[in-house]
Amino acid sequence: METKIPNVFSNADITVTYNPKTCIHAERCSRELSSVFRNSIIPWIDLDAAPTRQIINQINKCPSGALSFNSNQKKAC
Ligand code: SF4
Repeated sequence: METKIPNVFSNADITVTYNPKTCIHAERCSRELSSVFRNSIIPWIDLDAAPTRQIINQINKCPSGALSFNSNQKKAC
């Protein structure tokens, strides 16, 4: 039986997408920001566990591009 793991996570500021097919499992995210990227807990990403700016900085360090994010804020015109 296949287990579905959710790969889209949101807080008030951002929506984070994780692509398991792209991840090279270097575990950089879970080593450097373990409160958010939890490798033994499901859901494995907790976007309420650190400031959004810190989460974005960590996503930008992902070596494979498996982690990406979009802002939830609407831009003023
Ligand atoms: S940093 Fe990126 S490539 Fe490394 S384990 Fe996390 S998601 Fe996968």
